[in-house]
Amino acid sequence: MKNMEAVQFDLSKKSLKHVQLPVPSVTDPKHLLIRVSYAGICGTDLHIIQGEFPCNPDRPLILGHEFSGTVEELGPEVTNFKKGDKVSVDPNIGCEKCNFCHDGNPHFCKKGGINTTIGIYKDGGWADYVVCPESQVHKLPESISLEQAALCEPLSCLSHGWDLASPIKVGKNILITGAGIIGNLWACALHLHGHRRVTISEPNQSRLNNLKKLNLGFDLVTPNQLKERQAEDPEFLFDFIIECSGFPPAIEHCLSLLNQGGKLVIFGVAPPHGRISISPYEIYAKELKIIGVNINPYSYPNSIGMVEAMGDRYLNYDNLGIKVFSLKEYEEAIKALKEGSIAKAIFKM
Ligand SMILES: [Zn+2]
Ligand SMILES: [Zn+2]
Repeated sequence: MKNMEAVQFDLSKKSLKHVQLPVPSVTDPKHLLIRVSYAGICGTDLHIIQGEFPCNPDRPLILGHEFSGTVEELGPEVTNFKKGDKVSVDPNIGCEKCNFCHDGNPHFCKKGGINTTIGIYKDGGWADYVVCPESQVHKLPESISLEQAALCEPLSCLSHGWDLASPIKVGKNILITGAGIIGNLWACALHLHGHRRVTISEPNQSRLNNLKKLNLGFDLVTPNQLKERQAEDPEFLFDFIIECSGFPPAIEHCLSLLNQGGKLVIFGVAPPHGRISISPYEIYAKELKIIGVNINPYSYPNSIGMVEAMGDRYLNYDNLGIKVFSLKEYEEAIKALKEGSIAKAIFKM
């Protein structure tokens, strides 16, 4: 039997390990074996590794829920793919039986949703090979590279957020807080759609500097500069704020920066016990809207369309602050990500 490399997480020890494992076999007729090309490390993975986010407690698990690759082997009942197809995988699966799933909200599913995610509850993409159900696999158009397709999953979450926040009319004043990969992708998506009045706030100066490479012409500031401008000018306000930091004090500050009719999109994942204080009077008087965004229900085809439209202009790894690592370099990758010296780490197999 052929072996493969993988990075496995053991919840009981809260430890990661580079391992050699047998290549998994396709036992379900509706599943297929994918040879992984690129697999991202997501902020959620960092939370999982620190034991702050639930994952499969039963056995050591291969993490990785953002990946692209090619079809290697098909179960006998797989109908839409052939060997060699370039694909990206939607890791989130609903039970398809409950009312949430039937309502088009599989991400609210109590049995499925985030509780069955590939790479969190089932073996994922931090490996040379992964087995996935055909229903979760999306074929990529020729024009998309496997490198860029590793961003389909984060962009599918962004696309869901875009739908929830819409209409996001061109000409509106927009603030993005946090220049990790999600903030950077939001910046690119807004630019792609014609938005030019965009400010990005980020405390880490190296992340802020790296953003210049994207050449978007957006206003780049630190949170302190944001506060200074706010103090100087009471009209320094935003119609949309895309909160990507998940940092409760930053979220609370965002509320004070919203214009009349403003919308705050909560995209960053705050710690579960984080709290902010809020003025109901301001929500009433300004007709403010706070919009939570959780993963990617039925937004995968849209994300593939976005990757295609964004292409090399926006999805260049270096410009986005993405660094590529081998699986063996997992410790280095996680360290760089935690330090914030890079916006994202992606494994190349
Ligand atoms: Zn993720
Ligand atoms: Zn369900």
